Amino acid sequence: RLIASAPVSLQEEELERALRPKHLNEYVGQEKIRGQLQIFIEAARRRREALDHVLLFGPPGLGKTTLAHIIAREMGVSLRQTSGPVLERPGDLAALLTNLEPNDVLFIDEIHRLSPVVEEILYPALEDYQLDIMIGEGPAARSVKLDLPPFTLVGATTRAGMLTNPLRDRFGIISRLEFYSVEELTKIVTRSAGLLNVEISPDGAVEIARRSRGTPRIVNRLLRRVRDFAEVKADGYITRPVADAALIMLDVDLIGLDVMDRKLLLAVMEKFGGGPVGVDNLAAAISEERGTIEDVLEPYLIQQGYMKRTPRGRMATVIAYRHFGMALPKNGLS
Ligand code: ADP
Repeated sequence: RLIASAPVSLQEEELERALRPKHLNEYVGQEKIRGQLQIFIEAARRRREALDHVLLFGPPGLGKTTLAHIIAREMGVSLRQTSGPVLERPGDLAALLTNLEPNDVLFIDEIHRLSPVVEEILYPALEDYQLDIMIGEGPAARSVKLDLPPFTLVGATTRAGMLTNPLRDRFGIISRLEFYSVEELTKIVTRSAGLLNVEISPDGAVEIARRSRGTPRIVNRLLRRVRDFAEVKADGYITRPVADAALIMLDVDLIGLDVMDRKLLLAVMEKFGGGPVGVDNLAAAISEERGTIEDVLEPYLIQQGYMKRTPRGRMATVIAYRHFGMALPKNGLS
């Protein structure tokens, strides 16, 4: 899978960790959140306080986890990592919270998938560093209040709209991560090549960057695949023609769309006359989950102008028809 969803193997996860920038000044792009964090972290450090809770949202692979680790490191504290679906019962969260050291970072990935009962005990924890839990069952059950050390919650989600209002309101810093420019991805892939000891020419780096869907996870993923190709076919040196040949073999087209992207766009155009089509119908047509379409596939296609989200459903744009060399529907795009 080339699209940006989570690492697919343990080996990949390890490589990702190795390529992760460790300090804010190595973190490429995302100027706005970087600028804010620089100031807020410095201020919190001077006061010896925990940083405000941070909510990061945006498609997978844009650097949310990386940023959470950087925040902890810059604050000089430890990070505990978990995710919404893993925290099944209030006790799971309570165990994590009571084990934090003052000012530590708790990172909850997929925070929109917290169960309501767990979310409920998170509120007072975020607001007053207090834990309100029930101990025991039946008539013997009683509620206990525990003081927690001050801490910072960093929550990550693919879509801020999926969060309940009371949860969203408890974050002091809310930031949306943007897709990366070709220049930024070129920087990232050049740095990664250095870390992996891969020889790459400047225009080879640009070629991989251009075809990575604006996403650091994908640029690193493609680099590794192109490296394999280069080792077998080109003495390990990645030039632009080598990158291009490898990417064609990987079915990544000239603008970086992969098989799934094309399947989605072609379905809108060929099966639904260009749309509008509801996302559930679209999901059924390409045998993909609705969530994958919404979180992983369409954000980039929409950002690049190949697809539109309208109140009546998804539509292909003129740019999409042009990209595939297809004629527009006779009665136009409604
Ligand atoms: P997310 O949590 O949003 O899915 P990650 O933080 O896991 O994304 O990022 C995926 C990979 O992309 C990381 O391993 C890291 O090497 C790289 N990466 C992400 N953001 C940046 C960045 N701003 N600069 C450099 N590399 C980045």
